[in-house]
Amino acid sequence: MTNFDIIKKLSYDTEITEILDRVVNNGTREIYDNINDGIDPLDLDDGKKLLKCYDLNLLGAAADALRKRSSGDLVTFVIDRNINYTNICISKCKFCAFYREADAKDAYVLSIEKILEKVDEAVKLGATQILIQGGLNPDIPIEYYEETLKEVKKKFNVQMHAFSPPEIYHISKLYGASIKETISRLHKAGLDSIPGGGAEILDDRVREVVSPKKIGWKKWKEVMLAAHSLGIPTTATMVFGHEETPEERIKHIIRVRDMQKQYHGFTAFIPWTFQSENTGLNGTSTGIDYLKMVAISRILLDGHIKNIQASWVTQGIDVAQIALDFGANDLGGTMIEENVVRAAGVPFHSKSIDEFIHAARKLGRPVAKRDTLYNIIERY
Ligand code: SF4
Repeated sequence: MTNFDIIKKLSYDTEITEILDRVVNNGTREIYDNINDGIDPLDLDDGKKLLKCYDLNLLGAAADALRKRSSGDLVTFVIDRNINYTNICISKCKFCAFYREADAKDAYVLSIEKILEKVDEAVKLGATQILIQGGLNPDIPIEYYEETLKEVKKKFNVQMHAFSPPEIYHISKLYGASIKETISRLHKAGLDSIPGGGAEILDDRVREVVSPKKIGWKKWKEVMLAAHSLGIPTTATMVFGHEETPEERIKHIIRVRDMQKQYHGFTAFIPWTFQSENTGLNGTSTGIDYLKMVAISRILLDGHIKNIQASWVTQGIDVAQIALDFGANDLGGTMIEENVVRAAGVPFHSKSIDEFIHAARKLGRPVAKRDTLYNIIERY
């Protein structure tokens, strides 16, 4: 008997318990690697009802049972560094506090030497993953991207998790090549996997409001499926709590779920709340809203995406720790460096391995360091 079975007995909301029962008690499913279209017991309407539910214990217990079933008790994390190679960007998204005009005093493009220096520092601190992302800068030559990857790979044994879909699309324009050819070229130069940034909410109504110059959701999907078809894994993100409706949040998760059915290339889903300081939008999310979205992500993605990441960067380690009881199984990276969320007013201090180990152990859970692809490197 799971906690969910116990808690549902105390709930008066029979409709919600029936919806959750369909996914939790539908027999043990381990679908992940067998792509099958007909396995989803929950649809858009079910998701909307879950979002309206204020019985957080019930949602959390269902998500926790599914987490246990699909990824076990192990809490994982990766040692990584985010390197943002440029803050010059022509997209000028309304939710972004990071970008600058080319002539701004603090606009920058990192030299490849500087990037190598930062990778060197990270590797000395034990990093196995380097996440490289930046603005859509029209003045960076295509050689820069390939050279950066090649030089890092030549000198260091790290996984290059680089260039989100809007950047891949931007680079493909510079190459005059298709998205698939672009990813192949970058892969040959050293790209290992692609971060799921630029997804925000996968719906063009929302994107028209918050990032009208950025690629639409179908292009985001095209980049991800092109990568997956080439055997290159990616993550998927969701930034919520700005202009989207509850229905659009659920649509986002279901669209990611549908994409996953094609090649099973998403390694993790990472929902996080919009941070509004220094941006042109207002943020609407609370801690409860965050935990609810983590739980609903786990519930709707059951059978498709094994890893749900808790966002300590936006929520702080205390809420991220609670998220581990609400469907999340991974704490993401230690992030030796982070600039984008920090620009939106969130105080940032990278996390030590000890803080992650402490957070997991206080929940009574085992903990391990992983690589980008969720292979376990070391258990603690
Ligand atoms: S979110 Fe990315 S694409 Fe949008 S303005 Fe910021 S750097 Fe540019």
